[in-house]
Amino acid sequence: YAKQRGKNRVERYQVRYDELLRRHSTLEHELRHAIERDELRLVFQPVVALPSMRPVGAEALLRWHHPTLGNVRPDEFIPVAEESALINRLGAWVLRQACRQLASWLAAGHDVWVSVNLSPKELHAADYAGQVADVLAEWDVPSQRLVLEVTEHAVATDMDELVRRLAELRGTGVRIALDDFGAGYSSLGQLRDLPVDILKIDHALVAEPESRTGMAAPLVDVVVRLGHRLGLEVLAEGIGTPAQRAVVEEAGCRLGQGSLFGWGVPAEHLEAQLRPLRAPVTRPVPAPRSAP
Ligand code: C2E
Ligand code: MG
Ligand code: MG
Ligand code: MG
Repeated sequence: YAKQRGKNRVERYQVRYDELLRRHSTLEHELRHAIERDELRLVFQPVVALPSMRPVGAEALLRWHHPTLGNVRPDEFIPVAEESALINRLGAWVLRQACRQLASWLAAGHDVWVSVNLSPKELHAADYAGQVADVLAEWDVPSQRLVLEVTEHAVATDMDELVRRLAELRGTGVRIALDDFGAGYSSLGQLRDLPVDILKIDHALVAEPESRTGMAAPLVDVVVRLGHRLGLEVLAEGIGTPAQRAVVEEAGCRLGQGSLFGWGVPAEHLEAQLRPLRAPVTRPVPAPRSAP
């Protein structure tokens, strides 16, 4: 009987595994055509200054709507793309669209920067820094207005090579953010050696105050202090409640991002919230709706 049960379980795993494989190959196949079929969009999530909560930047986040599969989450399709050269094409598309949007915001007189997420594979592609410089030139965007986000996963690979690549990128004038810090991949020693400008505290650290009262505040506090001591700007991700905002602010963190300030939205929804570069806007601007 036990043997039979074990066999059923093995079969269930087999069915599940087959489903995963099928889903994976479907996604890979469909993703190959997503760009030319115009199924990809960027949404922009505001980054706000704290404590004023004024938007100062925006993170470009990729969205894929497939006619029959519906909306596929980046957490699902980015890893699929990363297994092949597809990620380089997707990444190039994202970078170009983000810079185009940035150029349009700057032309409209908004004081804003835009960040783009980078896969390790893109970072290690031949002459990636050259590609970035080309796109900046194409849209005539000042390089310091662009932030490239590298995850801690990239840190797990060859450290010397990573430092070289980041230094090269920074040579173009763009700023580098270390994304998802505190999620558990890179060490403090590595952080000291990485040529980065912004430290993004992972939402898991920021969300803790709700789940384990009193425990996370010291962690957020220490990471903010560490970042500042290393001369970095510190940005807390995934701020979803006023309590979380309070913890982050008390820690001295001056940049925040999260559902409390708005989810990723189409560029035009964010526009009215952005600050003018020069003279303040005198006409009243309608408050945009931020949708999940
Ligand atoms: P990430 O770069 O850490 O982006 C932040 C993610 O957290 C986004 O999910 C965002 O919608 C979500 N988020 C924002 N505020 C909150 C909040 O208050 N609470 C919670 N629980 N979540 C919040 P999204 O858009 O699904 O992206 C997931 C991940 O996919 C990103 O994590 C990034 O690693 C990757 N990704 C997205 N777009 C791109 C892209 O263009 N290129 C690459 N290489 N990766 C991308
Ligand atoms: Mg990011
Ligand atoms: Mg993150
Ligand atoms: Mg993430």
